[in-house]
Amino acid sequence: MSTTAGRIRLSVQAKVLLVVLGFLVLLPLLMVWIVTRQTSQLVQEQARQALATAEAVFQNSVEARDRSLLASYRNAVIQQSFKAAVALNDRLTMNASLHDLLGQPGEEAEVLLFYTGPKGEAPGSAPKAELLGSVRREGGPALESFGPAVAAVATAVLDGDARIDNVVLHDRAYTVVAMPVSLGQGGPVAGVLVAGIRIGEASLRQLKDLTRADFVLMADTRVIASTLLDTTGAWFEQIASPARGTARDLSGVIVGGEHFLAVAAAGQTGGLRYVLLSSYEKSMRALEDTRQTLLELSAAGILLSALVVWFFVSRITQPLRELRDSAEAVGRGDFSRRIAKFPNDECGDLAVAFNGMTANLESSHAELSKTVDTLKNTQAQLIQSEKLSAVGQFVAGVAHELNNPLTSVIGFADLLRQTAAEEKIRPHLDVIAKSAHRCHKIVQSLLSFARQHAPERRAVQLNTVVDEVLEIMAYDLRTSNVATVREFAAELPAVMADPHQLQQVFVNILANGRQALETFRQDGRMIIRTRAANGTVRVEFQDNGPGIRAENLSKIFDPFFTTKPVGKGTGLGLSLSYGIIQEHGGRIWVESEPGRGATFIIELPVAAAPSALRPAGEPAGRRGSRAPFAAAAGKAVLIVEDEEWIVTLTQELLRQDGYHVVSAANGEKALEAIGRLRFDVIVTDWKMPGMNGIQLYEHLLTHDPKTASRILFMTGDVINSTFEDFLRRHDKGCLTKPFAIEEFRDAVATLAAGGETKR
Ligand code: ADP
Repeated sequence: MSTTAGRIRLSVQAKVLLVVLGFLVLLPLLMVWIVTRQTSQLVQEQARQALATAEAVFQNSVEARDRSLLASYRNAVIQQSFKAAVALNDRLTMNASLHDLLGQPGEEAEVLLFYTGPKGEAPGSAPKAELLGSVRREGGPALESFGPAVAAVATAVLDGDARIDNVVLHDRAYTVVAMPVSLGQGGPVAGVLVAGIRIGEASLRQLKDLTRADFVLMADTRVIASTLLDTTGAWFEQIASPARGTARDLSGVIVGGEHFLAVAAAGQTGGLRYVLLSSYEKSMRALEDTRQTLLELSAAGILLSALVVWFFVSRITQPLRELRDSAEAVGRGDFSRRIAKFPNDECGDLAVAFNGMTANLESSHAELSKTVDTLKNTQAQLIQSEKLSAVGQFVAGVAHELNNPLTSVIGFADLLRQTAAEEKIRPHLDVIAKSAHRCHKIVQSLLSFARQHAPERRAVQLNTVVDEVLEIMAYDLRTSNVATVREFAAELPAVMADPHQLQQVFVNILANGRQALETFRQDGRMIIRTRAANGTVRVEFQDNGPGIRAENLSKIFDPFFTTKPVGKGTGLGLSLSYGIIQEHGGRIWVESEPGRGATFIIELPVAAAPSALRPAGEPAGRRGSRAPFAAAAGKAVLIVEDEEWIVTLTQELLRQDGYHVVSAANGEKALEAIGRLRFDVIVTDWKMPGMNGIQLYEHLLTHDPKTASRILFMTGDVINSTFEDFLRRHDKGCLTKPFAIEEFRDAVATLAAGGETKR
């Protein structure tokens, strides 16, 4: 049993047990009640019958006694000796004669009186008896009080008929027999003999012997004599009640702990009343014993039944309890829980259904966990690509800021190298130019790696792409003590590819190699080989790291397979690389022995017509022959640029070539200059404060299309797809900063000579 929110909660077992126990207790109690009721009715009926019989016997015996008393005193008065005493009418003789009579048979009288009479002194007066003699037994009633009490009876008998009556005197009951005495046969009444016979406990005991009932003799409400030991108490009040004095109804009373049925006997006289009591205590005891036995047996039966019920109910509810425990376990997330043993009944069906449900839950949960893992990984991937895109934007911004100063550095270094008079400063200028070129290359590589590109296909020179990647990774590799060895084939056919995607693949492979080597050894080395074979171009990345365990070889290209700790690896690098190479119609695989390093090999098909394509990475500006500087003679060039040093550099270059050069800091100023002068070439920056290069071009296109056709764009920014579209639509060229001074000169010369410079 337990309590839930103030409510008592009973187990099924307890509920069943309570119901069964209720019935088990109720049934025997009902049975005992019915048996008790029926039996006590029966017992009372028997007692009633016994009482009726006793009453009949009592009536008979009272009548018989009366008859016998009358007969014995009738005999006594006809004895000669007594008659003689009467005839003498002498007190002494009479007393002597009465004395003799006191010891007569029958019930012994306690007192005898003799009245003479009748003496009618006055005519018309009632006859009057006169006491002639009297005797009394010792302890008998006093004559002075007994005489007056019976005088009326005696006088009444003078008319000739014997009478018998009851008299109560000083709480003693007497049967009074009054017998007329005649001296001759049929002669007048000479006197009356009155006998007082005590009705005491002896008489009641005689009656009890005859009737087997108890007697209580009462005068009005007082008990005169009784066969019972106890004549006090509530029962007595009950039967002594005057209302019941004449009633014939029976009462059940308990006297001294004994059960009686009591009834007042009918037809008593002289204020006397007999109460008959019939005991049914024995039967009641027997009934009580039976009831006791029944109750004891029932209690034992209840106990036994309760144990049996408890045992069976606990067996029935056992599977339910197991089901509850299992359900709780499942609730806690233990989906492997099953119910092992179950009976072949409804509980068993429930257990089977539960097992089925948990199995389903387990597989759904497993699927869900897998989905959640996939989602987490995808989320990590998304975060990663978000980060990359943020890095891309950042890099693009940095590149733009670097390109303008780099243009000045490269331009002035080249210019100085060409014009420097002192031989000894040339090598220094070379260092400046080389370093600036290197910076430019790094910026370019970073830009092309970080930029988001739509997949494209163009002729790509793999050596160049690998070089760019190594450039990006140079710092990382160096600080991780990983030496790189380039074993590039000198002549390598181009492949049709997206250089940015290939960069991604190579960066992944190099980053993995670096990570593997970093913790494995101090003298890490990576050899990068390129070669052409059987219509393919192959790139190999070989490291001397820990290698890959045999059982992982087949998994490393699977998405999300990683052996790196959480946060370090996503398991996506190689699977993305695999996808990219597949899309290019190539193959990527790994060869490795644990402890002896790993080699990643990529094969890509050679581009269809390699000679017809210009491989990416080759500067566009260097194609074709350089336009003769003679084209500059008398030609005017407008430089529209907000960056002061670039203006200075380009002016210097073009003036050296013989151009007349004017500069403007933005589009508006350029329009003013165009309004004043005619220009053969207008070199304009793309982005500027105020009117930018595109706006200037579009303005001229509507107002002065001829001049618009002389425009050459330059930009230090990343060429985005919108600008690329614009260039393509208008068939325009654009120089990307930083450019080599020759490239710049060529482009201006070509346009000045009447051609178009495109990039
Ligand atoms: P990640 O680098 O995020 O783990 P990858 O798909 O790039 O995911 O790599 C998958 C797994 O391949 C790595 O976790 C590593 O166990 C293994 N691997 C890749 N390159 C090497 C290598 N050069 N040497 C040893 N193991 C490597």
